[in-house]
Amino acid sequence: MTTTPNTEQELIDERIGQLLAESTERSGPEFWGKMYDLGLAWVHFSEGFGGLGLSPKYQKGIIASLRDKGASFANYQTNLLGIGMGGPVLSAHGTDEQKMRWLRPMFTAEEIWCQMFSEPGSGSDVASLSMRAVRDGDEWIVNGQKVWTTLAHVASWGMLVTRTDPDVPKHQGLTYFVVDMKSPGVEVRPLYQITGEAEFNEVYFTDTRIPDSDRVGEVGDGWRLTLTTLMNERVAIGSNVSPRGSGAIGDAVRVFNEKGITDRLKRDQLAGLWVEAEAMRLTNIRASDHRKKGVPGPEGSTGKLHWADLNKRITEFTLDLLGADGLVLPGGYTQSRPSVAGLSGQTAQRAFLRARANSIEGGTSEVMKNILGERVLGLPGEPRVDKDLPWKDVPRS
Ligand SMILES: Cc1cc2nc3c(=O)[nH]c(=O)nc-3n(C[C@H](O)[C@H](O)[C@H](O)COP(=O)(O)OP(=O)(O)OC[C@H]3O[C@@H](n4cnc5c(N)ncnc54)[C@H](O)[C@@H]3O)c2cc1C
Repeated sequence: MTTTPNTEQELIDERIGQLLAESTERSGPEFWGKMYDLGLAWVHFSEGFGGLGLSPKYQKGIIASLRDKGASFANYQTNLLGIGMGGPVLSAHGTDEQKMRWLRPMFTAEEIWCQMFSEPGSGSDVASLSMRAVRDGDEWIVNGQKVWTTLAHVASWGMLVTRTDPDVPKHQGLTYFVVDMKSPGVEVRPLYQITGEAEFNEVYFTDTRIPDSDRVGEVGDGWRLTLTTLMNERVAIGSNVSPRGSGAIGDAVRVFNEKGITDRLKRDQLAGLWVEAEAMRLTNIRASDHRKKGVPGPEGSTGKLHWADLNKRITEFTLDLLGADGLVLPGGYTQSRPSVAGLSGQTAQRAFLRARANSIEGGTSEVMKNILGERVLGLPGEPRVDKDLPWKDVPRS
């Protein structure tokens, strides 16, 4: 006899049961695809598009239950930008056809996504970007350059912000597209970081054609979609709640013990960093609870800023503990082209080098401070002399 679930939690439990009963694997595209079909991928998305139209507060519990039953989710790591940012943007602003085409293979990580906002002259002030898209019938012709594009070399699709109207102020003339990274005229070149890895790239567009059906949102409304993307990026970067004592601070404790360090000052410093890491972890849990209730608190905005600083201090401390060993990269300095971003943390030496990027990626710490000053503390805003000027009249270097 079948019964109708009474509560949202019962519905979720029923779907989890069905997923486990119908799947032989606990990982991989088939398993994640079934998870999508049952509405457990992004539970807050609409039914038929990977969700059940429920509160996002259930997602953590779904993942935890499935992990308890042996499931694993490498898709989140391999398609970080797609699942963490592209999905929410499409859910909020995409058409049903676009969601149908892109969301499922995004979640299964069969199609990797990248984010193309930054340009050589427009990083912090991304709204000032220059890449032009000009309409030609049912298509747009795109010319220009993007930079620091994480995983562009393995991506099938890119979230792309372009300037479609230079005659209006900078925030108004932008339009958001999804671009097929294999289109003619798209050239991806590696940029090597100090870790020796080229996680990111320069991407050149020369007369690249994008069908109008791959435009997301209205023409000229690209800034609103850009903000949705960036908001999701900062939350993803700064608010990861990992188990107590894991990650960078866990490595510091491990190295401290392996080296048999007895120095009381070092022990005191380690304890201080551990307390700070734990306080940050608990703050992130509180911020995440606030977000679930729909009340984003200031903790969310401080997360990215504080994490960038703390991660640098912890990795620096661990390197210090290693003494002379800290000066040498295990395995030597090699150049590579990883297909997953942010894995340099596998050795303390590379984690130290990779942490330099934390205060730049996803918005610099200075910019985070501006946001906190203006939006949270209510301090006077920065002078914005170009705000009302047509973009084409703003001097650029
Ligand atoms: C590891 C990594 C991955 C990245 N991945 C991507 C990606 O996938 N896609 C993408 O589009 N971009 C990506 N970026 C780019 C990143 O978003 C930019 O580097 C960042 O926004 C800063 O822009 P910028 O480098 O042009 O520096 P600039 O904006 O030129 O800033 C230079 C300096 O000036 C300071 N500054 C600028 N404006 C202000 C201000 N108003 N007040 C105070 N100080 C200010 C900055 O803090 C910084 O110290 C990535 C960056 C890194 C490091």
